[in-house]
Amino acid sequence: MGIQQSTTNNTLLSAPKHLSRNKRIPKILENQILTALAHYPELKNTNIRFVFTRKLKSSIMAARPVVQTLLGPRHQRTYEILIKPVFKLRHSIQPIHRVSDEVLIGWIGHELGHIMDYEQRTTLRVAKFGLLYWLSKRYIRKAERVADTFAVNRGMGSYILATKDYILSHAELPQKYKDKIARLYLSPDDIVELVAKLEEKNSTEKQEELIKEETDIVEEINTESNS
Ligand SMILES: [Zn+2]
Repeated sequence: MGIQQSTTNNTLLSAPKHLSRNKRIPKILENQILTALAHYPELKNTNIRFVFTRKLKSSIMAARPVVQTLLGPRHQRTYEILIKPVFKLRHSIQPIHRVSDEVLIGWIGHELGHIMDYEQRTTLRVAKFGLLYWLSKRYIRKAERVADTFAVNRGMGSYILATKDYILSHAELPQKYKDKIARLYLSPDDIVELVAKLEEKNSTEKQEELIKEETDIVEEINTESNS
């Protein structure tokens, strides 16, 4: 696993179990989550719950503050990292715990990057952030870049790349898109969203194709019965 030696945080990193302080971690992803957490010593006291949920729509993981805890004292602020237990990427249906360790560590590392971003904000600024995130495409881009940057700066670059590669290779996107994504600075979230949009477009195209096919058949029948 990717736990590196560090002179400043030796005890923490050599005893990864200590990383679970103030965390709620599902057993099935424990190793991957602890490895990602080892890169974020700043979050060692932060309350974070990792929660499996089927409610996520366009994403596979998402980090958010628990709203009620924003109103209490700062040290009680709690975050949730929501994780979809089973997801679909184009043709494959994938239980999350079957995804390779590297990819999962990168994905969790990205979400922890979002929490680092939240942690630097006062309650008011977290609220404003939430609002802007929903309202502005450009703001989303920025927030996603910030999350990736936190992860990369903490030595998680190879994990983050593994996550992107994984999503890209399972998305079965045309080479043109893959090249574009490789050039752009896109987060795992961005890629998942792009794939979802493409699928939507494809299904509309497919529907149009079907209608055209039906129209053709009707025309053929008409021509035949007329001759
Ligand atoms: Zn994200």
